[in-house]
Amino acid sequence: MEFNFDFYSPEQALILPSAKEKKIELYIKRDDLIHPYISGNKWRKLKYPLQQARQKGKSHLVTFGGAWSNHLLATACAGAQFGFETTGYVRGEQIDNPVLTLCRLFGMKLQFVGRDEYRDKRALFERDYRRNSNSFFIDEGGYSPEAAKGCEEIVKELQRVYDHIFVACGTGATLAGVAKGISLYQPNAKAHGIPVLKGGDFIRKAALGLYPDLDFTLHCDYHFGGYAKTKANLMSYISEFCRTTGILIEPVYTGKLLFGITDLIEKNYFKGGDRICIIHTGGLTGFLGFQSNFLLDLNNSNS
Ligand SMILES: *Cc1c(COP(=O)(O)O)cnc(C)c1O
Repeated sequence: MEFNFDFYSPEQALILPSAKEKKIELYIKRDDLIHPYISGNKWRKLKYPLQQARQKGKSHLVTFGGAWSNHLLATACAGAQFGFETTGYVRGEQIDNPVLTLCRLFGMKLQFVGRDEYRDKRALFERDYRRNSNSFFIDEGGYSPEAAKGCEEIVKELQRVYDHIFVACGTGATLAGVAKGISLYQPNAKAHGIPVLKGGDFIRKAALGLYPDLDFTLHCDYHFGGYAKTKANLMSYISEFCRTTGILIEPVYTGKLLFGITDLIEKNYFKGGDRICIIHTGGLTGFLGFQSNFLLDLNNSNS
């Protein structure tokens, strides 16, 4: 069985005042519209691993994530859609939140594990599922060569020729696939990654570990204090962006990506006439996790 469903990911013009002023053309590849729960790059990253699991006759997907993980939710929903059982190991003490409720609703069994134990994911899998030959291991965030392969297709689908292509980075698998896709399908474009974690230079090694000869630039100054950390200026940037474009971005990944690109435009990083593609990798859970911060921000700006 082919793991394809008809999906919609248009490439839309994006108007930002600072880009317009400097005659920079922006487009946004709307992978966030692929699916509401198997969102954006998480579908790209699951497609080939699911195919592999099916080919090997596996019926149970076992994977890992934090309590607000887009990847856990995507795996839960994809498992339900394509007929796999799913188990998610969740880092940290047992809690409830809207993301985990959605995971359960899609039939995922959740196992909470302490932070130390969580570190060795292979060991957890071996301990609990070694004797269950139906089980298939998918790493945290979906990180794998097959995941990167799925992300090459984002670039293959692009309708225009670009000078720069940008993506947010968590594990670096998406950037690896995008940079590889650029070398195949957009030879004049430069690949750019915006790490959302502190010390984002580790992404270089993580991406090169999937494909050794990649060329890309990392912009490591847009982490806002670290993973899932935010600041008031990021929150107000996001509110303004959502209000003026109708496109939802969130504080964990795509908000930092758009903030970074806007800042680079304002600092004259690009030349007039450059055409930039921004990959919207989805990410509803980042919004859900910060819902109360948005309430605060919106109350302030409306008062
Ligand atoms: C998971 C995720 C990323 C990070 O992808 P990596 O392949 O882990 O670098 C980026 N954006 C969104 C919205 C995500 O959910």
